Amino acid sequence: MKILATDLDRTLLPNGSWKADDEAIDLFNTLTKNQDVVVVYVTGRNLALTENAIKEYGVRYPDVLCGDVGTSIRKYEHGEWTFDDGWIAHVRRASPGWNAAAIRDALADIEGMREQESEHLNPFKQSYYVEHDKNDAVLKQVDERVKGRFDEVIIYSYDSQDGKGLLDFLPASATKQTALEYVAEEFGAAREDVVFCGDSGNDIFPLTAGFRGVLVRNADAQLVENISKAMQQDPGLKIYFAKGGFRGLNGYYTSGVIEGACHYGILEATSQR
Ligand SMILES: [Mg+2]
Repeated sequence: MKILATDLDRTLLPNGSWKADDEAIDLFNTLTKNQDVVVVYVTGRNLALTENAIKEYGVRYPDVLCGDVGTSIRKYEHGEWTFDDGWIAHVRRASPGWNAAAIRDALADIEGMREQESEHLNPFKQSYYVEHDKNDAVLKQVDERVKGRFDEVIIYSYDSQDGKGLLDFLPASATKQTALEYVAEEFGAAREDVVFCGDSGNDIFPLTAGFRGVLVRNADAQLVENISKAMQQDPGLKIYFAKGGFRGLNGYYTSGVIEGACHYGILEATSQR
């Protein structure tokens, strides 16, 4: 079984400042529907925001959604979503020290950060907005109060689109990477049969987890730098940098996903165009 997994915002979805190829989303939909590949969206979006994206951009429904930065997994079959309770049980077992309420209490009065709206939180995701120009001081205090105490991971990323710093606390066992590993195992897919495409911040984890990685051409400079470092340390990593020029596509967003998937042979583009 082959899996094509992709981040949504600015990876599959053309919602950045680069110009998108008009035909790329239709091509992605056609290629993935006509070929034997499981499509997985791995995103910070929750279910409602994922459905908004599907409607707004016309991307197909995935077979599996790893949403809320990997803290929820749903399958989509016959027009319906099924929540994966097995994932929740797995995370509880794997991160017994996780305690979102205790993390919230520990962080209560740090200046320069505020809790995100309730729709962006769940029992496995405690998230904040951070004033980016204060992020060094904020993250230092955060580490002192939380780091290593709750079987957690702390992920800071900067959204260059709207200038917001985003700070997520997740169980160490429930991230974009571990959610994709769980899905791959469920479908019996070997690591080399899983392609993951990303563009920024927290995509570093699934990109360096031993899957076949793809950076879309618009990937942010910080991620490119971190990936280059990781590749120097581990020459076995397989990561492809989309560059455009493939089948007349420009390599940004959806086009980069198609280019990368074809590079690894997960999709075959020749017959449909
Ligand atoms: Mg993204």
